[in-house]
Amino acid sequence: HELTPVDIRGLTEDTVALIKQKTQAKKVSVEWAREPEHEMRMHTDPFQVRQVLINLLENAVDAVDTNGQIRLALYRKAQSVCLEVRDNGCGITPENIEKIFDPFFTTKPNVAENESGTGLGLFVVHKIMTGLSGSIHVESEPGRGTTFKICLPEWQSDS
Ligand code: ADP
Ligand code: MG
Repeated sequence: HELTPVDIRGLTEDTVALIKQKTQAKKVSVEWAREPEHEMRMHTDPFQVRQVLINLLENAVDAVDTNGQIRLALYRKAQSVCLEVRDNGCGITPENIEKIFDPFFTTKPNVAENESGTGLGLFVVHKIMTGLSGSIHVESEPGRGTTFKICLPEWQSDS
């Protein structure tokens, strides 16, 4: 895949629309914590970033109860653009947080016809972020919720 200037706000909103069935079925709201004020462009591969967002959003939906909330934030930091996906779900214990990026680590009951519960989502996310010279961080409080933050290089108009 080629690296291009990616309007991350648009890509995020398209991805949220893509998983609407899943969020609506559980009455989960997905909103900007604060509307991004201006356009922010990443220097990246939109297809792989969309895959990352799908995995993070699906995990957030799985983690919350009915009527749960997912809040998004977008900001510039140094030469990067960062997106935060915050949920008010079950959270991750300190013991489990060490393992979430390991292949096949899952706490979800394995439902044969359901693709989630394979424990590969975050493994793939981590691989993609590394391949795109980005970073991923997680903060979680059991019983209160989880925030994943991804940062990728900002598009420079002279690059
Ligand atoms: P899967 O979703 O198939 O279980 P993932 O690799 O996507 O696999 O996630 C691994 C594990 O990390 C999950 O089973 C869950 O325990 C934990 N996890 C990931 N995201 C969240 C989240 N937003 N809230 C709570 N737990 C999470
Ligand atoms: Mg998953």
